Amino acid sequence: MEPLRADDPGRRVVSDNQTPLRRACWVALVYLIAGFAWIAFSDTLAEAWFPDPRTLSLVQTWKGFGFVLTTGLVLLVVLARQLIKDRALLKLQRSQRQSLRMRERQLQVLMDNLPGMAYRCRCDPQWTMLFVSQGCARLTGYAPEELIENRVASYASLMDEEDNERVYCEVKAALANNESFSVEYSLTRKDGRRIWVWERGRGVEEDDGTVVLEGIVLDISDRKRLESELEEMATRDPLTGLLNRREMSKVLDDELERAQRYQRPMAVLWIDFDHFKDVNDTYGHAAGDSVLRAISRLLLESVRSVDSIGRFGGEEFVIVLPEMDLEEARDTAERLRRKVAEAPQPLGDGRSAPLTISVGIAVYPEHGQTAATLCAAADKAMYLAKDRGRNCVAMAHLRHQVDNDS
Ligand code: GH3
Ligand code: MG
Ligand code: MG
Repeated sequence: MEPLRADDPGRRVVSDNQTPLRRACWVALVYLIAGFAWIAFSDTLAEAWFPDPRTLSLVQTWKGFGFVLTTGLVLLVVLARQLIKDRALLKLQRSQRQSLRMRERQLQVLMDNLPGMAYRCRCDPQWTMLFVSQGCARLTGYAPEELIENRVASYASLMDEEDNERVYCEVKAALANNESFSVEYSLTRKDGRRIWVWERGRGVEEDDGTVVLEGIVLDISDRKRLESELEEMATRDPLTGLLNRREMSKVLDDELERAQRYQRPMAVLWIDFDHFKDVNDTYGHAAGDSVLRAISRLLLESVRSVDSIGRFGGEEFVIVLPEMDLEEARDTAERLRRKVAEAPQPLGDGRSAPLTISVGIAVYPEHGQTAATLCAAADKAMYLAKDRGRNCVAMAHLRHQVDNDS
């Protein structure tokens, strides 16, 4: 049989409860008193009642038998009761140990089959692990014993410093309110791969009053990837990968607000391909798509990282150029026009075809104060470029020019 451990509930029952020893003392005391009383009084009574020496001797013998028989019976009853109690106690201990072992086994199976890892850690800047389940190796690449007590790496060292500070603040706030916490952050695995995780945990007070954290960490990289794909789909044009009309309108509003707040210039270029219908008619729609993609790439490579390009529809593109005044916008538009015109565009089947663009320019604050008026001015300027024979750049009219023209 397994020896009883200090924390075994069965042992606690025996050591906490001192009744058996106390009761044994009581029994011995009662036995002594009864024995002494019997010896002291029975002899006196026997001598008084049986004066004849022969009868007295016989009575003394039977009195001795009676005493031994009575004490023997009492001893039997007491021992039998104690043995029955001991047996019941042992049975209880055995069944408690069995159910404890079964619960441990169930917990182990549950822990090992968790999709992530279960943990128990100190609430310190290193997130010092006191226990991690086997899932730790699958999740982080580190074996549980490598993370426990920060032996090879601390859990905090797998997190970004910024994430770590944010998570620390959130955990502290949850502990202060006696609530559980849920956080999302990224981890760098042992093999260098980055993953996204979701953690839920709570503070648990130890016997010595210190608070440790217990919870689970799950890999949510797939969900994050899906989210970013959905976000991409909601903001990007699927053919060219450029911003779609809705997102581009948002960018335009944001940049205009910034330009207005800081009193800075900002330019909008409105681009339309020349005779694009002919490309479709001559080489097919797929070739037209290939040209759209090629020119999108070309435009993207030719602007600054702060500029934004979007496909507004069909073969019309809009470029927002923050911090650009009239002259710089004209130079940029001219550079883009030349770049497109100089290189024949690939049709996707090994062949290529020449293509040109017409560009209309509108600049804040000269040509408009709102996104709508700037777009209208740039669109109008693009038609001006078409009227001038295409493959050229046209600046939107200033208000006084419009007045003069009409
Ligand atoms: P213009 O110089 O006056 O602009 O002549 P254009 O032929 O380019 O005329 P317009 O801009 O009105 O025509 C746009 C054409 O672009 C019509 C359509 O067939 C084509 N187009 C629009 N969207 C797509 C697309 O996604 N793929 C392809 N291949 N063609 C497209
Ligand atoms: Mg066109
Ligand atoms: Mg068009």
